[in-house]
Amino acid sequence: MTTASRRTKIIVTLGPATEGEAMLERLIANGVDIIRLNMAHAKHDWTRAVIRRIRALSTRAGREVAILMDIKGPEIRTGDLAAPIELKPGEIFDFTVKPGAGRENAEEIRSVDVNYQDLVNDIQVGDTVLVDNGLIRLEVLAKDAAHIRCRVLIPGQLTSRRHINLPGVKVNLPSFTEKDRADALVGLEEGIDFLALSFVREAADVTRLRDFLDARKSKVGIIAKIEDQSAIANLDEIVRACDGLMIARGDLGIECPFEELPVIQRRAVRTCLAQGRPVIVATHMLESMISQPVPTRAEITDVANAVYELADCVMLSGETTVGKYPLECVQILDKIARRIEAENQDDEPQALAGHSERLRVLHSAVVLANSLPGSKLLTFTRYGTMVRGLAALRPACAPILAFTPAIGLHRQMRLLRAVEPYLMPFASEPDITIENAISYLRRAGRVAPGDKLIVATDILSQDRLVESVQLRTVR
Ligand code: PEP
Repeated sequence: MTTASRRTKIIVTLGPATEGEAMLERLIANGVDIIRLNMAHAKHDWTRAVIRRIRALSTRAGREVAILMDIKGPEIRTGDLAAPIELKPGEIFDFTVKPGAGRENAEEIRSVDVNYQDLVNDIQVGDTVLVDNGLIRLEVLAKDAAHIRCRVLIPGQLTSRRHINLPGVKVNLPSFTEKDRADALVGLEEGIDFLALSFVREAADVTRLRDFLDARKSKVGIIAKIEDQSAIANLDEIVRACDGLMIARGDLGIECPFEELPVIQRRAVRTCLAQGRPVIVATHMLESMISQPVPTRAEITDVANAVYELADCVMLSGETTVGKYPLECVQILDKIARRIEAENQDDEPQALAGHSERLRVLHSAVVLANSLPGSKLLTFTRYGTMVRGLAALRPACAPILAFTPAIGLHRQMRLLRAVEPYLMPFASEPDITIENAISYLRRAGRVAPGDKLIVATDILSQDRLVESVQLRTVR
């Protein structure tokens, strides 16, 4: 009897707490699937060094993890301040988009610069301005070509270069900035597997990045991060355009009323399931573990909820960048995911939007696997179509043992729920490839004599490749 693998994948964000060799090695050995580099905080030298380190350690461990570069996207920030400003309730305060421009009552009204000139065109009187991850709230009272005049609703201390959120405001900043482009080029040079595009507002944002990658003949997968109300309004088209979706709950929780967050998460996961796109639930999953060794009851339930919803991945951010217990966080995610997966065994394959013949064949493979307790799905893929289809159908219990000869695809499969990727050259005869894979799995202790394998693959029949589903018993 071979042990069950975890179906839900784990993404960790790299930072000071985890970038060293010893910790990275332990994270890879403890089942991390994808390592995220947050380019909001990363320099290029660091990026190159850690990518090379991850690759070397993966090779040493015999377990290739994927690398996801998260580019910052458009961002509005306040400027530098000589000293922090203590904003008071009801205070009138100005945001200046054209530094140096004169204004009314300048001597009485305090102000800070903002790095985006067109803000005055995008924003309207009555809109809300949130500063420093929503900690400070202001209401727009008036504007002119150079300033936005506000009243402080929720006070707080304003320090230099704080992030600004504008709930419900359509901001006309480009989705893929010059900084993103420079970061992405470093990533492509170093061979990353995924690019996460921040603040995707419509499908065209994804398409622009796709054009950039296509022009460089790159097969890097695009993860669209949904973080504001425009993304929610355009959810279906964004999901169709991307290779995977990240529910970026940090910014979403600021840009949308907080009580909407669970509704949005459920809708986004269901949209991805229906369209067969991988989905990542991100941010604050084990936030209290940044400083505490155990999670709160609410965090345990939040992680469990993402697993019950059948998300592909759960993601850690601060917990593994600066937290005191990064390894424990991964172990706890692993434990919760395995427990909930053992509960969660729906016998019906996921209903998908597409009805291609290939999908129908894969559907029959999943129905067969669901009817045979203890069975495993085995598939072979060069471009990822087969394996993505099988994962999207959400088999109830069977793991998807997926072989590919392509190293890039091998790593990209780490994103997919229930998929165990294996790298192996294919023989010219599909039947020999199947036999080689079964021998490989036997040697690895992943299958044992008597195990039932449902093989979903192309076979050669009179010089034609035919899609097939076979039931084999391991000898
Ligand atoms: C988020 O907002 O939840 C998120 C993942 O994005 P970032 O960490 O880039 O702010």
